[in-house]
Amino acid sequence: MRKDLPELVAYAHELEMYTNLITSAIGFTRSRALELKEAGLDSVQISFQADEAQLADAIAGTKAHSRKLEAARMTRELGFPLTINVVLHRENIGHLSRMIALSEELDAQRLELANTQFLGWAFKNKEALLPTRSQVKEAHAIAEAAQVRLRGKMEVLYILPDYLGDRPKPCMNGWGRRFLTVNPMGEVLPCQTAGVIPSLLFDSVRQHSLQWIWHESPAFNRFRGTEWMPEPCQSCPQREIDFGGCRCQSFLLTGDAANTDPACSLSPYRNQLTALVENIEQHSITPPAFTATTTHTRPIHFRTNPKGLPVRLAQPTAPSRDRISTGG
Ligand code: SF4
Repeated sequence: MRKDLPELVAYAHELEMYTNLITSAIGFTRSRALELKEAGLDSVQISFQADEAQLADAIAGTKAHSRKLEAARMTRELGFPLTINVVLHRENIGHLSRMIALSEELDAQRLELANTQFLGWAFKNKEALLPTRSQVKEAHAIAEAAQVRLRGKMEVLYILPDYLGDRPKPCMNGWGRRFLTVNPMGEVLPCQTAGVIPSLLFDSVRQHSLQWIWHESPAFNRFRGTEWMPEPCQSCPQREIDFGGCRCQSFLLTGDAANTDPACSLSPYRNQLTALVENIEQHSITPPAFTATTTHTRPIHFRTNPKGLPVRLAQPTAPSRDRISTGG
């Protein structure tokens, strides 16, 4: 967590902006929380990997679960509204009911259950993380029941995975339309993962004003609006609703960020995505649905931690048929 965060929050507060701290909770100590409260922080969002420490720590690659629980309780004690975010995938989606119960116990106001979108490191781990269609369907039913039961007490959002849908999401609500990200080096990106597209160069707040970057920089103008769109997006009535989907996903799956997102069933590249999903499904072994058992069918690859080796997911203890090599 950056040292100057209280100053940034105080300045945003002075400008009457709403501030939300999205954190793993590592580094969100009581003294830090009190400083941020004093600075005017409005709300806190904490990510959880699962409802219980063994699985959560294995997925996180570090022992973080107990610190997250402490941070969530402290967040409520200090009077911040609390959002819990759980990124769902094949290893934890079977724990959904218990994650909802944990969020209720922690008195969260909002629970975001977002199926993994396969960008960044998730893309490298898609064979290990993509849930099966039946897992996603069952989880959807559990989330919908929770939405009804908890209405007025806790808002529950359930976000479907792009790979198993028919239409892409309106990524960032359109490129260069509403969002910008300033990374720790000062570079300004239209979305936080846009760095994956090698043809884009991102201007820095050290050289240009945010106003110039937003209006003039080539990276923000490259996919803004609809003129850049190829067919079938160019003549599609959905083009100002989903903005042709996700540029980063298009690049990762087709090699060209300007292609129609394969998450759309109208995309000429949809067949490639369907083949990829079917290949992963055929070679995956689903953890026993909605039980506490964790069966890791493939290892997850972690980023290298410069301060030490990450905790790895346990290798499968099931017979050798579980040891499936990664398919394409
Ligand atoms: S063709 Fe393009 S604009 Fe139309 S639904 Fe698919 S991604 Fe959206």
